[in-house]
Amino acid sequence: MVIATGTCKLKFGTMNFTIAIDLGGTIIKIGLLREGRLVDRKELIAQSASGLKSQLPELKETIDQMLQLNLLQKKDVLGIGFSFAGLVDSLKNRILSTNKKYDDGPENDLVGWAKDKWNWPLLALNDARMALLGEWQYGAGKSCSDLVMITLGTGIGMATLIGGGLLIGKHFQAGNLGGHFTVNHRGTVCTCGNVGCVEAEASTWRLPLLLKEHPHFSESSIANEEVLDFRALFYHAGNNDRVAKEVLDHCLSVWAAGIITMIHAYDPELIILSGGIMKSSGIILPTLQEKVNQLAWTPWGKVKLVEARFPDSAALYGADYLVRSSIKSVE
Ligand SMILES: [Zn+2]
Repeated sequence: MVIATGTCKLKFGTMNFTIAIDLGGTIIKIGLLREGRLVDRKELIAQSASGLKSQLPELKETIDQMLQLNLLQKKDVLGIGFSFAGLVDSLKNRILSTNKKYDDGPENDLVGWAKDKWNWPLLALNDARMALLGEWQYGAGKSCSDLVMITLGTGIGMATLIGGGLLIGKHFQAGNLGGHFTVNHRGTVCTCGNVGCVEAEASTWRLPLLLKEHPHFSESSIANEEVLDFRALFYHAGNNDRVAKEVLDHCLSVWAAGIITMIHAYDPELIILSGGIMKSSGIILPTLQEKVNQLAWTPWGKVKLVEARFPDSAALYGADYLVRSSIKSVE
């Protein structure tokens, strides 16, 4: 099922600000936007292990301060766009399922919270889908109608746009779980319960074990690093450390396999890559592009891989677009 995101006309008077909340595992980003421009932003340290309910008072206080500092009133804001790193019912605007962060998420009535505190509507979406909306409308995917966006980080996030509408599915999972495509049926057990998922074979959470499992790890220069992350991996691979190079090759091959499956499944015109690991995009992008060019079955031509334009704030822009395109302004 493809859900179009709507194109209703808005009244552009004073009431055209939106609030964007991007609830990440370590940082909560709050944005004040106006017609696709980020006017103000704040960041809070996330206490994701303590749940969502306990964070709501601080969110409310931060939003109220933001309004006050920008000389705005409640009536100047159209609504809240809420991004969440888990499965989200975007029809009822409720969190459906979490993965070790904000585990009380499904118990919270976010729509009721926004109505009670400000009398605003609230629209919730999975964070990868929200970021895709932002890149589609204002960033790397502008003027495209068919996109896949992938976030390479602690886990692997994904969202899909087909024919100008977000791919959602019967249970809000379609086009969203590329990080859990199986690339190795004899592989590592994933946090999702499956075996050999893309993120179970190559992601930030998997990397330390990947390195330690290498038979020559103890002799390698990367073994001296306190933190075994992708920054260290790219650094040592660049210095010709054999273990780092082999593990990096493995990760790139895993990501390429995932991307090729995404291309075969969703037929995008463009793939947008984002996430913390993309700080080394100079190596990742050309390597993945070459593998995709060689291996993907696309008789019409080649799918281009590009870097996200707003790696840090795409979900905030997406939230602004979602609210503005979904809410009709009342005269
Ligand atoms: Zn998985």
